[in-house]
Order: sequence, then structure tokens, then C-alpha cells
Amino acid sequence: MKAFISVDLEGMPYIVAPSHLNLKGALYEEARKVATKITLVVADELHKGGFTEVLVADSHGPMVNLHVEDLPEYVELIRGFPRPLSMVAGVEGCAAAVFLGYHAKFGTAKSTFDHTYSGGSVRKLEVNDVEVSEFMLNAYVAGELGVPAIMVAGEAQLLKDDVEKWAPWAETVALKDSLSRVAARSPSMAKIEKQLRESVKKAVAKLEAKEAKPLIAKNPVNMRVTFLVSHFADVAALLPTARRVDALTVEYTAQSMNEAYKTFELLVLAASGVTALLTQQS
Ligand SMILES: [Zn+2]
Repeated sequence: MKAFISVDLEGMPYIVAPSHLNLKGALYEEARKVATKITLVVADELHKGGFTEVLVADSHGPMVNLHVEDLPEYVELIRGFPRPLSMVAGVEGCAAAVFLGYHAKFGTAKSTFDHTYSGGSVRKLEVNDVEVSEFMLNAYVAGELGVPAIMVAGEAQLLKDDVEKWAPWAETVALKDSLSRVAARSPSMAKIEKQLRESVKKAVAKLEAKEAKPLIAKNPVNMRVTFLVSHFADVAALLPTARRVDALTVEYTAQSMNEAYKTFELLVLAASGVTALLTQQS
């Protein structure tokens, strides 16, 4: 039995400064250590709970954040970006999905680094008319593949807004309570470790009792993407299946969540291309 863990950084405890989040940031090393510690605690408890394999998808920025030296034998790591299915690469065939270090969607008040998938290009993402966070986007893809989200640990507002509402069966651990977009309060790592271990035990018990359900988006899937700036929508509208809704928004219909996600990934990469092009020209 294999478990899947997707690891983001912005919802990790103590991570509050932009320099925590970038490869060249002065505090990046600290963020890597925190994320690795949390991931390995959860993987250890999943292993103790009966999972013989744990597949970890390193899922922030360039997706090479986790330290690789101390991985136990049962852990396999997916790192690097771009890649198909991005933050949920490898989830197919797993029995359960866990999301660590996840954060609230763009426009959430007092929530560290609130953004939806791409801080540089996306303002709002809607799946079948429901505004989603990264957690929901990824949980929908896992759900379509029959994999339930059994646990989410991250920023408190995400847990309140999205996890409790849309995936009430999932166990949650608040790793930080935000005071602003760049400030948060977190328990000690010792306390967090205890809470994570208890939470994994409960999540595995619920999975065994069949209380954890895959999160399902109805097919065909309508995806509506609102960008931060209209030139991203100008380029996204080149997609033959895209319809321009307004200056900042395009929408498209996909036959599955998998297809919807890959198309969204492509539109975000196109937006990055536009940014790079305009930066080059300036
Ligand atoms: Zn991230």
C-alpha cells in the first residue's frame, strides 16, 4: 500500500519572509529544513500505520526544496518542474493523499503568502463555478484517480475555508495562524510533531473505516482562470478551446480533471513565458 504526500512551503510553520521561498533566499535553508522535518515525521507515521511505500512530491517553486540525505528506504521522491500534473505528479495508484505546507487561496485576508498556484499570474481559479485553493485543485485530481485526501497540514485559514468545508473527512493540523500576509504564529516543532503523528493515526483509521472519500469534480469540468494582468489572458485566449470572459478571465471545458489541470498548467507556463519575454524587452 502506497501513500502520496504533496509538499508546499508557504503553509509550513515559521515560513513568513519572501527569502524563505526562493532558491537564493537568505532564509531558504531554514525553510528546507522545516519542510523536510515535517515531511519525514508524516512519512514515518504513515509507514508505522501500514503504508509500505510513501511517494513524496516536492511541490513548491522549482520543486527541489526537500533535503534528500535522510530519506528512509520506503520513501521515493519526485522533484523538479515543469512536470505533468505538477503538485500531484505520481498520485495515481496511491491509496491516500496527504497535503503538507498548503496555504489559502489568493485574496484571503491575514493569510501568509495567500495565492492560487501562481503568485505571479493567477488571481482566481474556479472549477465548476467554485473558487478553489491549490489544495482543492490538487485534491480534485487525486479524487478523480480514486485517491482520497486524508490529511492536510498548513495555514489555519485554508483549513477553515476549504478543507473543513469541502473535505470534512480529512484530518487537519494548523501549522501556523497568520497575523498578516508576512507574519504568523506557530507552535514549537515538538508540539507540531506530536500533533502530526496523532493526526496521521486518525487519518489512517478513517481511511480503513472507509470514512475518507475522494473529492470529485463533475465531468465535463469547467475551468475559469482570472489572471492578474490582461496580457496573460490575451495569450491564454490563443488556446482554441478557451473562451474570453472578460479582460482578465478565460474559461474552457475539459473532459476530465486531469485534462483541466494539465491545460491550466500550460496556461500558467504561458503566462511565465510572457513575463520572461516582457522582462527581456525592458
Ligand atoms: Zn508554494
